[in-house]
Parts: sequence; structure tokens; C-alpha cells
Amino acid sequence: RIPPIYIITPTYARPNQKVDLTTRLSHALQLARGIHWIVVEDSDHKTTLVANLLSRTSLPYTHLHIPTPDHMKRQPHEEFGAKPRGVLQRNEGLRWLREELLSRNNRDGFLYFADDDNGYDLELFDEIRTIKNAGVWPVAFAGGVMVEKPLLKNGKVVGWDVAFEPKREFAVDMAGFAVSVKLLMDRPEARFDFDQPPGHQETYFLKSLGLKKRNMEPKAKNCTQVLVWHTKTKEPILILEKILNQIGKQTDKGMEV
Ligand code: UDP
Ligand code: MN
Repeated sequence: RIPPIYIITPTYARPNQKVDLTTRLSHALQLARGIHWIVVEDSDHKTTLVANLLSRTSLPYTHLHIPTPDHMKRQPHEEFGAKPRGVLQRNEGLRWLREELLSRNNRDGFLYFADDDNGYDLELFDEIRTIKNAGVWPVAFAGGVMVEKPLLKNGKVVGWDVAFEPKREFAVDMAGFAVSVKLLMDRPEARFDFDQPPGHQETYFLKSLGLKKRNMEPKAKNCTQVLVWHTKTKEPILILEKILNQIGKQTDKGMEV
């Protein structure tokens, strides 16, 4: 039996939601073995769209929801990095996971945060399963560069080869680390904080687990390999749909897209 990897995915409604969650993320996770998928909708209810796609997977999964209040969402006039995204949802996933493991008296496995629009190589999950406490690896297309990666010296993380704020204790994207469930349970207060700006959520969480960068175990061939890509799916162009909607027509009426 292989140890489980609990994967927390925040997700919100948009035209690309189903195709991202299904064809990119769920298909990858179903090939990966040993995954328990925790999907947390940014919504005041569980949608049938997400319930349907989850029920079609062969994965053990948990379907949760928690809405981000309007005042915590980025407003159209605010700049791109104004507010962090997915914070309440990741914390809700953590709450469920800790409760579940406590009730089962179980501390086996790993935790990884997989946003719903990234690209994941299957080898990433094998790397995660070699972690003792906390692992770290390169992430492509994050922080405005081709690849952000840890800087190693004698096999230890001593800094970050990144362009955006390299002095952070953890200059790593959400997709660039995973931790053991044991560590998560040893630090029951560790979580994300909405008051931390985007780009500082990771540092806040990893520090709250009592970690320093030198504690991070380098994965993906000593951080020389890219196994995850911080992609962003292009929004489809729906200008004519909007015009149709104004005259009472809707091309996806009665259909799930
Ligand atoms: N997300 C969310 N609610 C929002 C915006 C984003 O739950 O209002 C989720 C989204 O589905 C993704 C994660 O939070 O899993 C990060 O968001 P996104 O990919 O848009 O941000 P990025 O870090 O790529 O800029
Ligand atoms: Mn993203």
C-alpha cells in the first residue's frame, strides 16, 4: 500500500472551470495512484457541475465549499496582485483534513496544494512520496520568469533563484512544495492568512509549520527538473454569447459546459 497524497484544490466558477478540473487536473490525478482529492469550491453551495465531475472520477475525494466574501475579492479597479486568491478555500481543506486524520488517529501521507489551472507531471507525485517533512522543487512560469527554483549549496536550500522578491524566506509558488501529514498535525495552528499579500501566502504557511528554508528537502533531481507549470488557461472569447444573452438566447441552455 502506498501512502496517500492529500491534494487541496481551491476552485471557482468560470467558463473554463470544468475543462480545467476534468481534462487537466482530474485526469492527471487519476493516473497518479494514492491520491485523495479535496476540492473546495469558492461558492456558498456545492455546485452540481463540480459534484458531477467528481463523481465521474475513480478517485477518493472530498467535496467542500466556502465563499470568499465580496470585500475579500479583487475589484476590477484594483491591480492584479492586490488580493490573495483561494485562501479561505485552502484553510477549509486544511480544517477538514486535520479533523479527518484526528478522528481516524492517522498521520500517514502527504499534503500538496494543487491549483486548478496548473500543469502537473505524474513524476511529481512520486517525488512527493519521498518527502520526510517538507519538500521543494522548481515551478515553471511562476513569478514572471520561465522557471523559479531553489538555490542549493551542498544539497541544502540557501536561497531562491527568482526575480520576484528573492529575499523571502520561501520564495516559492504554491505548486512548488509539499509537506508530510505528520508535520501538519504537529502544527495544528498552521494555515494561510488573508492579510498576507499574494506571493507571501507560501512563506506565511511554511513558517507557521516551523520551517526554515534550510529544512526543505530538494526534489526533482536536486531542483534541476521541471515537474509543474504555473499555467493560466486563456479565457474564452464570449462576446457574441453576451449579445445573445441580452436578447434572451443562451447557447448552453440545458447543457453543462
Ligand atoms: N480561486 C478561487 N477563488 C477566486 C479566484 C481563484 O478559489 O476568486 C482559486 C483558483 O481556482 C485556483 C487558485 O484559487 O485554484 C489560485 O487562483 P488563480 O489560478 O486564478 O491564481 P494565480 O495564482 O494563477 O494567479
Ligand atoms: Mn493559477
